[in-house]
Amino acid sequence: MKKNKQKKQYAMQTRLIYGKSVSKKWDYNHHVIPPISSSCTFRLDTAQRGAQGFAEFAHLHDNTSIESRAPIYIYDRLGEPNKELLEENLAAAEHGEIAVTFSTGMAAISAAFGALTGIGDEIIAHRTLYGCTYSLLTNWYPRYDISTQFIDIKDTELLRRSITERTRVIYFETPVNPTLELIDITRVVEIVKKANRRRHAERKIYIVIDNTFASPFCQRPIELGADFVVASLTKSICGFGTDMGGVVIGPKWSYDRIMLYRKDFGGALAAKSAWPILVYGLSSLPLRMRQQISNTYEIASYLAKDKRIAYVTYPGLSSFPQYKLAQKQMRDYDGNFAPGSLLYFGLKGKTPKERHDKGERFINYLAKNAYAVTLAVSLGHIRTLVEHPSSMTHSAIPLEQQISNGMDPGGVRLSIGLEKPADIIRDLSEALDRL
Ligand SMILES: *Cc1c(COP(=O)(O)O)cnc(C)c1O
Repeated sequence: MKKNKQKKQYAMQTRLIYGKSVSKKWDYNHHVIPPISSSCTFRLDTAQRGAQGFAEFAHLHDNTSIESRAPIYIYDRLGEPNKELLEENLAAAEHGEIAVTFSTGMAAISAAFGALTGIGDEIIAHRTLYGCTYSLLTNWYPRYDISTQFIDIKDTELLRRSITERTRVIYFETPVNPTLELIDITRVVEIVKKANRRRHAERKIYIVIDNTFASPFCQRPIELGADFVVASLTKSICGFGTDMGGVVIGPKWSYDRIMLYRKDFGGALAAKSAWPILVYGLSSLPLRMRQQISNTYEIASYLAKDKRIAYVTYPGLSSFPQYKLAQKQMRDYDGNFAPGSLLYFGLKGKTPKERHDKGERFINYLAKNAYAVTLAVSLGHIRTLVEHPSSMTHSAIPLEQQISNGMDPGGVRLSIGLEKPADIIRDLSEALDRL
């Protein structure tokens, strides 16, 4: 580094770019909150340090612990401090060994499939999935000869029979988006463990669970034996609806492969988005979720009593068909029942068309008149959001298939926020009165 006096020989135009260049004021160790790291590239004091950084990238040795590792940062897409701090905390939140973040939930989901499958392999997925995941598996992977069997994974005997030599991944959401039906993780783990006994290590089947709906506060699939968790950080973990992100959490051996995948496919989480998710989102998840669960229970109980409503599906209601499983599987960090902040309900009507039209009218009334309920996709935010999955988030799934998969063409999905529950009820009840 040149001395200050020599720097004066440089033009102001240049000095405005470099300033002091390296400053003692960059004392990150003493920040209580990590600073927003906003550097695409990193100074490499010598060519040797650069070479070492490249050599070490995505070569995590068995004896290195992710937490203690001080990497040589090279370039934001390969890694930088904000997302790596967030990754440490996300791995801890899900009780996984490692986490790799991505620019969106879909980037994380495609990275998990990309890292675990290749030409000729097969995925077994639950028949109802987030619309874009369904589209990824039906519109894109067949082009690379990666096929998907869509089955009802709740039927674990059917799952056992469906596993073939080509199967590499079992993939599902629980609660399922949007029907909120649950899949018993422990039972799937038992079946896959048995199937893996007869398989070569390189042909092992991995269980990948999308934990976006529950969030790690309500459910930790890796504790129950799943291999990987994928999630959209855009939802409950960010929580405020300001930033998109995704994450893959899994065993340590997968870290290098997923990091290489991110480097080459390029869906890295922006440091400027990692920062609010780290500083505001994940840190407040337990507090928000506790309140949102309590609000959701209150609203579900209110809707369940209304004569105009055909059914209310919420894992926290004792009328929920899989209530026992919900109580077993959905537990917060203290062991309390944590059934989440989403509910799904349908209005009464004689035909699917009548139910569909009523659902649409109900939602349109809310969109126009409600203050504490907003018509918008996404979920897990501090604002209550309502949407119509059949025509919106799940429209990639053909209507007949939606119905045969247990989706209701008139079903309404509510993601409950942090408003006063009485205010949400006021808006919902006004919309019901105007039907
Ligand atoms: C939103 C969502 C995704 C995709 O996440 P993005 O951040 O929007 O890419 C995946 N799975 C589920 C269950 C979701 O709700």
